[in-house]
Amino acid sequence: MSIILDKINYSYSEGTAYQIQALKNVNLEIKDGQFIGVIGHTGSGKSTLTQLLNGLLKATSGHIYVDGEDIYDEDYDMKKLRNKVGLVFQYPDHQLFETTNFEDVCFGPKNQGLDRKTVELRAYEALRQVKFPEDLYYQPPFDLSGGQKRRVAIAGVLAMKPDVLILDEPTAGLDPAGRDEILGLVSDMHKNLGITIILVSHSMEDVAEYVERIIVMNQGEVMYDAPPKDVYAHYKELEAVGLAAPQVTYLMHDLASRGLAVGTSATTVKEAAKAIAEALRRS
Ligand code: ADP
Ligand code: MG
Repeated sequence: MSIILDKINYSYSEGTAYQIQALKNVNLEIKDGQFIGVIGHTGSGKSTLTQLLNGLLKATSGHIYVDGEDIYDEDYDMKKLRNKVGLVFQYPDHQLFETTNFEDVCFGPKNQGLDRKTVELRAYEALRQVKFPEDLYYQPPFDLSGGQKRRVAIAGVLAMKPDVLILDEPTAGLDPAGRDEILGLVSDMHKNLGITIILVSHSMEDVAEYVERIIVMNQGEVMYDAPPKDVYAHYKELEAVGLAAPQVTYLMHDLASRGLAVGTSATTVKEAAKAIAEALRRS
C-alpha cells in the first residue's frame, strides 16, 4: 500500500485568532513494507502527521493519495483507510477502556463488523504477536505496567490487520529495558508481518538501530528524509534544532578528529565496534 502526501498543510483552529499551522508543505511518499522513523521535537507536527495519515484529521490544503486514490474525494471510503492504516496513539491510556485486556484487543476487529469467532481469533493472534503474557489476558487494562499497556494497545491495532502500522511515541515513559523490549518487538513485527511501520519518536537513539529511513520534522516541515547514515551526517544541523544524533555518531567523529583512521558513518554500537576494531588493526 503506497501513500503519497502532496503539498500538505494543516492548521488547528483555522480562521481564528488561535490558528496554529502544525504542518507546512509536507511532501512524502510512504512505500510498501518500509520501516520508517519519524523524528522531531515536541510540537514539530509528528502526531498531527500520523492523524492525517489515517484520516482522523483532514488536511487544510493538499492531497493524500492511497494506492493512487485521493482520500479527499467525496466517494472515498474513509473507513477502509482507517482499517488499513492502524494508529497506536501516543498515550495508551486513551486507547484502553474495556474491562479486560482481551476485550480491548477485540474492540477494533469487532468494529470492523467481523463475527465473534473471527474477532476472538484475531485477538489471540495479535496478543501472541506482541508477546503479551497469557495470565493477563482477562485482567483489567488499568492494572498493567507501561510496557504491557503498550503491548495491548499495539495488539488492538494489529488485530485489525493493517497494511501500515503507525506507532506514536511507543517508548514514551518507559524505562530503558521496557523501551528496548518494545523497539525489539516492533522490529520483529516488521520482519515477520511484512507490513509498513512508521515509528514516531523524539529520540534518535530509539530509531537508530532499526529503521531504514528517517523523516526529520522541524516546526511542521520535513527537514530531512533519508537513510539514517545520511541524516546523521547532518548532526550539526540537527543539534541546531535541538535534536541529537545517536551517541555513536559523536564517538566516531571524536575518534576521527583525534587521529584514528576510522569512518564516521556507524549508526549502531555494533557497527561502531567493528569499525573501531578494524581501524585499530590497521594502525
Ligand atoms: P508533536 O507530536 O511533534 O509533538 P503535534 O502534531 O502534537 O506535534 O503538534 C504540532 C503543533 O500543533 C504544536 O504547535 C501543537 O501545540 C499544536 N497542536 C497539536 N494538537 C492541537 C490541538 N488539538 N489544538 C490546537 N493545537 C494543537
Ligand atoms: Mg506527538
